[in-house]
Amino acid sequence: MYTFLKSGNKYIVSTGSNTDLIGEITAFCKDQGIKCGTITGLGAVDRLTLRYFDIVNKKYLDKEFTGQMEIANLTGNISTLDGELYLHIHIVVGLSDYTALAGHMLSGHVSVAGELVIEDLGIEAKRKFDPQVGINAYDLQ
Ligand code: FE
Repeated sequence: MYTFLKSGNKYIVSTGSNTDLIGEITAFCKDQGIKCGTITGLGAVDRLTLRYFDIVNKKYLDKEFTGQMEIANLTGNISTLDGELYLHIHIVVGLSDYTALAGHMLSGHVSVAGELVIEDLGIEAKRKFDPQVGINAYDLQ
């Protein structure tokens, strides 16, 4: 279970170790009622599912990775889709051979620490499925 401190419209959030990173972020955003915001993060995971969007075929390709991976950067935004919380998170992780993996983060198991800064922009940013592109795009009107 996460712990946090608030400063203005920003929160520093710790997921602790051995936690479900997306689950913790989701719970935090729901608990605080955040409907538009940004997320940045550091830490380490030992299981990660990445998603790559194949633009030509409009298809998501998902792949799971295991082993110690350092979160070199986690960047995301918070919005809603059909009234439900919607997280769009990209992650770059560093491996033991100093190479990196990157993609959308579908799921991640925190091994050591999950250190996040979440900013609540205080409004609601909606999304809607855009069939032309094949993604849940911003619907900012
Ligand atoms: Fe993306």
